[in-house]
Amino acid sequence: MPTDKRQGTSIHDQMVYGIAVDGLTRCAHWHGENDIIAIRFHCCERWYPCYQCHAECADHPATVWPAVQRHTRAILCGVCGHQPTICEYLSGGFRCPNCDAGFNPGCASHHHLYFAD
Ligand SMILES: [Zn+2]
Ligand SMILES: [Zn+2]
Ligand SMILES: [Zn+2]
Repeated sequence: MPTDKRQGTSIHDQMVYGIAVDGLTRCAHWHGENDIIAIRFHCCERWYPCYQCHAECADHPATVWPAVQRHTRAILCGVCGHQPTICEYLSGGFRCPNCDAGFNPGCASHHHLYFAD
């Protein structure tokens, strides 16, 4: 069944939008074992697995979270549904503070696409 871009996928009671999103928030672009977080975007407050999903599905350019908003719960763990803050995520050693699932450390090279310094 094709995924309806606008409908989204319900994961831990959150609607996650994107391309070929699975039950752990993996997507068509990032689907490794540890690609298991979604990010709430600053521009639309919608969950997407990655910036490419946002670029392909949203009707507006993405904006990044300003540094003063790092207390925002903008990360969704696809394994347990916990929502750490940006600050917790950035300082958490790429593990979920709730269930200890390992997140992809390679995401660090894309943090500037989501979070301002
Ligand atoms: Zn957006
Ligand atoms: Zn994606
Ligand atoms: Zn978790």
